[in-house]
Amino acid sequence: MIQETGKAYDNHFEPKEAKAESYVLHYRDRSALVRVVAAGERGADEFSSGEMIELPRLVDYPTPPERTVFAFRIGEDDFFLALDDEVATPAGFTYERVGWLRGVGPADLAFAAAVGSQLASWYRDNRFCSRCGHAMELAPRSREIVCPNCAKIVYPKIQPGVIAAVTDGERIVLTRYQGRALKLWALVAGFTEIGESVEDTVRREVMEEVGLRVRDLHFYKSQPWPFSDTLLMGFWCHVDGSRRIRTDHQELAEARWFSPEEIPLERANDHASLTGEMIELFRTKGAAGLGL
Ligand SMILES: [Zn+2]
Repeated sequence: MIQETGKAYDNHFEPKEAKAESYVLHYRDRSALVRVVAAGERGADEFSSGEMIELPRLVDYPTPPERTVFAFRIGEDDFFLALDDEVATPAGFTYERVGWLRGVGPADLAFAAAVGSQLASWYRDNRFCSRCGHAMELAPRSREIVCPNCAKIVYPKIQPGVIAAVTDGERIVLTRYQGRALKLWALVAGFTEIGESVEDTVRREVMEEVGLRVRDLHFYKSQPWPFSDTLLMGFWCHVDGSRRIRTDHQELAEARWFSPEEIPLERANDHASLTGEMIELFRTKGAAGLGL
């Protein structure tokens, strides 16, 4: 998955200054400043393009950004964000869509650029206090944005959500969303509402999207999904009662049961997402192989 880079991710906040060799990331909206250092491979798809990137280091900028803040450390590398609206673009670097990063390498830099975009959006969206309108300030020793006028504190935005793999012991429910650019088969998914446990979210989303009741929820894994400010929690669960799907056509184009042999191979290269991992696990091991 996207966070499994083989290197340690350390986001303990430290009030430190970027050094010449530190990575200093910059974004415009949800596009990241990157340099493509290797082109894609033949037969590649959007999940594994074969493209390789480099990210800008402080030394690469013709003039250093004025406002930087420590973001995180991955392996031996420190990553900072440039909070300036515009920067002097380093030679060879261009702004590329953050969503594209899920298919590029190396894994640590793709993850850094994706997570950095989430942090950068949070800083950008909290320049003014949502309660009193005053200009906000960065807390010096923690990852907080504070209002010097009314003392409101804003913490990084992380939206919890669930992915639910519903099985009947032999098959799995796959769904396709309405009106999205990426019209791939996926699992039931949705955001946690106020007052809900994540288990409640699973039961509600499965009922809303495909009209099924579920039991025996088993937590599988979680993953940060910076593209939508989300922390996703994946569950296996068993249909309870009728297997007849009633598709919510407001949200879904289609939903149906698939045996492992029927699952399309379209996500076989989707190594970034928890959805892709769970579908591929079911396709290759089946319900019995997974103990479901
Ligand atoms: Zn305020």
